[in-house]
Amino acid sequence: MTQIKQIPTGAIQENCYIIYNDHSALIVDPGDDAPLIQQVISDLDVTPKAIIITHAHYDHIGAVDTIRKTYQIPVYIDPIEADWLTDPTLNLSGLARHDDMNNVITAPAEFDLNHYDTYTIGDMTFKVVPTPGHSPGSVSFIFDDFVVCGDALFSGSVGRTDLPFGDSKALLTSIQEELFTLPDDMYAYPGHGPKTTIGKEKTTNPFFN
Ligand SMILES: [Zn+2]
Repeated sequence: MTQIKQIPTGAIQENCYIIYNDHSALIVDPGDDAPLIQQVISDLDVTPKAIIITHAHYDHIGAVDTIRKTYQIPVYIDPIEADWLTDPTLNLSGLARHDDMNNVITAPAEFDLNHYDTYTIGDMTFKVVPTPGHSPGSVSFIFDDFVVCGDALFSGSVGRTDLPFGDSKALLTSIQEELFTLPDDMYAYPGHGPKTTIGKEKTTNPFFN
């Protein structure tokens, strides 16, 4: 059974996730605090196989290069935001108010995440669905009984759309078409804050009720 561990990182508490089976692991959005992420990986006694990125805002990618070098693993991203990894203007780190995040640049990603494709990496399988709106290349990762949804859907809220390239109409459509069509009892793990369920957000999220 695939399991998930949430690790809030950095000044704005971005959620990195370790998704793991018996021995192998995927790392989602290593945003900051690489030593903390490495400690959790060590405690879980799992071997990272890849980094997968929900979107390339700086708070989600600040520890990508340290983690990828430590474990010698590739990075996967939606090609729409591939060049955000190498550009502080696009990933917004040029605007960051936290000194240690002012110029986030990572090496280019090794692989694309293609919409609606299913990926098997190590012994973990997930499907990529597009959830644009917070940013144009935002994607969510659907595993057996949970979805990792980046900054699209939060517990009781949705991602902000006032940043460059944000699109509030696209965001609400993404959530309704790609996330609210998932089973009600499916857990949703957002890029900030606590986990929730699809059913709870469908019935109580103020953006839809
Ligand atoms: Zn973001």
